Amino acid sequence: MTMEEGERLICYCPVCDSSSVRMDARTVRMEGHLRLAHLHCRKCAHGVLALVLVNRVGASSVGVLTDLAYEDALRFQDAPPIALNDVIDVHLAFGEAGWTGAAPVKKRHAKVTRLPS
Ligand SMILES: [Zn+2]
Repeated sequence: MTMEEGERLICYCPVCDSSSVRMDARTVRMEGHLRLAHLHCRKCAHGVLALVLVNRVGASSVGVLTDLAYEDALRFQDAPPIALNDVIDVHLAFGEAGWTGAAPVKKRHAKVTRLPS
């Protein structure tokens, strides 16, 4: 089985069940027998990131719905993973007065602090 045949197996939209004729598939990355593909449904405009493994035995794949465009998938593929302190920093930033110019949001959670590095 070729990589293209394996990719064709996953070319249906899990949201609206459109077939491969309505799906655009582009390769984000290839490494050996693995291909990361971005699928875009022309009918409902949802996206899927699919990891496809093709070898002599056959093909298997796993996909996740995404709001990433193909260009975003290319851009973020080598980005560092999000660390817990990154999430805490965003939480703290949203909790600060003046973030949006609106009145401060009432804090309903315990005090959040960064983890030691
Ligand atoms: Zn669709």
